[in-house]
Amino acid sequence: MNLHEYQGKELLKSYGVKIQEGIVAYSAAEAVEAAKKMKELYNSGWCVVKAQVHAGGRGKGGGVKLAKSPEQAGEIADAMIGMHLITPQTSAEGKLVRKVLVAQDVFYPGAAEPKEFYISILTDRGRGCNVIMYSPDGGMDIEKVAHETPDRVYFEFIDPMLGLRPFQAQKVAFNLGLSGQAFKEMVDFVLKLYAAFLGSDASMFEINPCLKTSDDRIIAVDSKVTLDDNALYRHKDLELLRDKDEEDPADVEAQELDLNYVKLDGNVGCMVNGAGLAMATMDLIQLSGGSPANFLDVGGTADAQRVENAMRFILKDSNVKAILINIFGGIVRCDRVAQGVVDAYKAIGKIPVPVIVRLQGTNADIAKKIIDESGLEVMGATEFQEAADLVAKVLAK
Ligand code: GDP
Ligand code: MN
Repeated sequence: MNLHEYQGKELLKSYGVKIQEGIVAYSAAEAVEAAKKMKELYNSGWCVVKAQVHAGGRGKGGGVKLAKSPEQAGEIADAMIGMHLITPQTSAEGKLVRKVLVAQDVFYPGAAEPKEFYISILTDRGRGCNVIMYSPDGGMDIEKVAHETPDRVYFEFIDPMLGLRPFQAQKVAFNLGLSGQAFKEMVDFVLKLYAAFLGSDASMFEINPCLKTSDDRIIAVDSKVTLDDNALYRHKDLELLRDKDEEDPADVEAQELDLNYVKLDGNVGCMVNGAGLAMATMDLIQLSGGSPANFLDVGGTADAQRVENAMRFILKDSNVKAILINIFGGIVRCDRVAQGVVDAYKAIGKIPVPVIVRLQGTNADIAKKIIDESGLEVMGATEFQEAADLVAKVLAK
């Protein structure tokens, strides 16, 4: 699950990480009010209006703009809200902007030039540990930095048993070229950032830019946070931050139905229990000349309602020319699933594509009987290969 910039910053702040402060606005009028409030709080009429969408590269697409007065903040917000923001990370249509963050201007003039760093935290699966990835050359061209001067990107690997040790945070601050007050601030920033990462069960944090202000403070000016969906059950407060408007409608619905669904671009809809069997099924479809339209794991409790939900879901994809239901009855009983298929048929009415059902395991014989005697246009199979061959046959027609 992805968070918006403003939500990510609030999360960081709750762990004591310093951030560029801001107020969310849903209209031009709210943006003016927010900017006035920011002026009172921070004693500067300047602020930055930032589009809140789940996509990076907003600066390049005109989604981050400096305003020199609350009125101007209102004008910018007026133009931004309702627009489709196109950035290097969105599709060609862009993303509809529904709200903006009116943020503190932190690039104020001072003794020294502000400096933008890049800091992210993610898991290195190869090494089996978390890693802090950072660069002194942060800002909007970090991709170019990574590509052209990879030696300017550093890695700090974290032992899962020992956690992030203070000397490692010091190493980060050192490699970023900091000294004095800014060095101390960065050590504190990195330690707290890592605590936030662990505490929220995040899978990715990206702070770009992390800014050294002209008065030597270290603050997060942007935040990209991805939380681990599998850990959300223990973060009810964070789960509430989900913004369904930003997500693919099919993904949202699958989530609501508790189905493990990934859309693919083939023509055979698959309904399988268990991720391993689902992958094997996709392989066999491919080997038999078809191509899977989706990955769908209906889970261990494939009862009639779930089968119906999954069937309706698969049928939404107009590319689907056949459906293969492949269930191994270990805990789930095959006769139950078979009844589910029959019920789904009756509930949905006419299913416009051939359905091949292979049920194996507990009560498979009873299941086959239910399918065969239902009088429905369903093809039953017992062997895996037999099912795949049937799929190939109906596709060839
Ligand atoms: P992104 O392009 O989606 O990653 O959005 P960011 O939040 O990172 O903002 C993009 C760029 O806007 C940053 O790299 C900064 O250079 C600039 N920016 C952000 N906040 C301020 C600010 O307070 N003042 C000024 N002048 N520029 C800012
Ligand atoms: Mn950024």
